[in-house]
Amino acid sequence: MDDARLREGMIAEMRRSGSITSAAVTRAFERVPRHRFVPEVSLSDAYADRAISIKGEGVDTVASISQPSMLSRMLELAQIEPGNRVLEIGTGSGYNAALMSELAGPQGRIVTVEIEADLAERAAATLRACGYENVRVVLEDGHAGSAEDAPYDRIVVSARATDIAAAWWEQLADGGHIVVPLEIGIGGEYAVGFARSGNELRSEGVVHCLFVPLRGEQSASREHVFARSSNARYISRPRSIRSIKAVKTAEALPELLERADIVVAQPQTTFAVTWD
Ligand code: SAH
Repeated sequence: MDDARLREGMIAEMRRSGSITSAAVTRAFERVPRHRFVPEVSLSDAYADRAISIKGEGVDTVASISQPSMLSRMLELAQIEPGNRVLEIGTGSGYNAALMSELAGPQGRIVTVEIEADLAERAAATLRACGYENVRVVLEDGHAGSAEDAPYDRIVVSARATDIAAAWWEQLADGGHIVVPLEIGIGGEYAVGFARSGNELRSEGVVHCLFVPLRGEQSASREHVFARSSNARYISRPRSIRSIKAVKTAEALPELLERADIVVAQPQTTFAVTWD
């Protein structure tokens, strides 16, 4: 089977399972040749709905190209529009940057930051070879974002975070969206799509996810957890999240706990979580 047919099959499956709903995200998946971003695997493996390790193995996986159905859910949350300026943290293969380039269109711009030199180089070469000219790959610790093209309409973090870094707060435009896979000590890992309104981020959607962790200087978590109820069993029992409000920790007030079930204070960001 040729790659176009395999892509069609992958997308049909993602539509059936509900992981793609919008026409724009469907079109992006139709257009990007996923197999060119993972030349190490067979054509049919490249179009299976699975994550593929591209550096390291097993628990030591440094980078993997994400499972298509998880990427599509994150991209639906990101709501990228033509002309948007988008920052990605964690380039990996460059596949997600290519999808976002399709979504932002020729007037848009994608800046994607990668901490591993070999991956950054390979992704830049693949993106160039596939004709994605509005994508810039930056070799850097993504905790610093990329100030040069800021502010961004969208920030998409492609590795697991425990906090929203100070630079991401600085570089996200008011009214913009940030999608970030969070593991904040409440059990589980969730990709959260937030919309920014002034100094607050409000969740618009939450999906279960599985990412490799962010590395670098600021990735150590020093969280403080406050629960409204004295019953501390919340941590051992996975709960489904209704909403999360995030504010800068320096500006967080005790009143946050009044309308949340649990508040997690990380060095940069405090998350007020409400359960279903
Ligand atoms: N979006 C990628 C998948 C990313 S996997 C794709 O479509 O293929 C996560 C990536 O984040 C890895 O490549 C890893 O090296 C990178 N990474 C980890 N910590 C980082 C950091 N602090 N700054 C930038 N990139 C980081």
